[in-house]
Amino acid sequence: MNAVDAGPANTGDRIFARVGAFLAAHRLSPDPAHYAFAYEVVANAGGAIAQRVASLTDGGVRLTTQDIALLGGRTVAGAPVDTGNDDEASALTGDADAHQALIERMMMQVDGFDDTMRLVHAEANDFGRDLQRSADSMRELGAEAGIEAIARLTADMIDRVRLAEQKLDTALRETEELRSALDEARGSARTDPLTDLPNRRAFDEAFAALHRDTPVTVAICDIDHFKRINDSFGHAVGDRVIRMVAQTLGSEKGPLVARYGGEEFAVLFEGVPLDEAAKTIERLRSTIADRRPRVRETGELIGTISFSAGVAEGRVGEGRAALMARADAALYRAKDQGRARTITAP
Ligand code: GH3
Ligand code: MG
Ligand code: MG
Repeated sequence: MNAVDAGPANTGDRIFARVGAFLAAHRLSPDPAHYAFAYEVVANAGGAIAQRVASLTDGGVRLTTQDIALLGGRTVAGAPVDTGNDDEASALTGDADAHQALIERMMMQVDGFDDTMRLVHAEANDFGRDLQRSADSMRELGAEAGIEAIARLTADMIDRVRLAEQKLDTALRETEELRSALDEARGSARTDPLTDLPNRRAFDEAFAALHRDTPVTVAICDIDHFKRINDSFGHAVGDRVIRMVAQTLGSEKGPLVARYGGEEFAVLFEGVPLDEAAKTIERLRSTIADRRPRVRETGELIGTISFSAGVAEGRVGEGRAALMARADAALYRAKDQGRARTITAP
């Protein structure tokens, strides 16, 4: 697939067809934002964006909305994207759409329940009224005619009760499905889709849920010179490197490890003193440095993956923001002092 290299004679029709082909190849909706992006790529084949797309899609990788955002495009919702830390932006757009769809499903279901209950109620009323009539006619016309009418009525009511039962069964099954969709939505709102790690929101919530007397230590780990990895090997390889670091950090038993931003991870230790937490981070750092990953398709060595880390131990009465700011300041000292190291906050 190479929908990127436009020929020399780009008539309007051809551009239109190529934009269509580009959207189809990347399974992007013909939303104006996607269309504008595709147009930019197709109409300006020698341009910087087209070249970045070519390198990103090398090896048959499909562009994602996140890729488009990274290349300076707009998300489907049309919100301008901060290309520095965009993963949250596009994830949130997707979340909002999914949540809206769930809310609509829930409202439809509540309406459906309402209708079913009204129906059952009306039928019970009708049945009561008809029974009363049969009892009256039994008194007037004699038992035989009345009994026949009651038998007919009862058979009819049994049918209707069965129907109502079926409707209730369907409604209950839909409720079950909705419940698991809601559970999933609750989870996905707190999970980073690239790494499957808890995201920043999950980290902040876990911190907020701690008992105020719990001693905490936090670390922020930021991959060194990550932009170079993206620039040299492409965004898809950059993503794999993020996943590799996430996997190693996330395999540590005990602390909560979250993807805090683009190439940044936050670690929450409970009841672990500063020095011990710093030692754990250093151990993880050297595990990652020893991996020496290669580009899967070409075997090319990506080089040593290192990160810098800042670690800070919570003080009595200190809130999350202040503690994270101290860890961040330590991280910046680690960067300043040459990267690939862990610095503890005073
Ligand atoms: P430093 O050592 O100072 O941290 O340098 P750096 O290059 O790692 O830092 P910088 O903040 O300049 O660049 C981070 C880059 O990470 C920029 C952004 O495009 C990229 N990035 C952010 N999120 C993702 C992602 O999900 N996937 C990929 N492939 N790149 C990402
Ligand atoms: Mg960073
Ligand atoms: Mg970095």
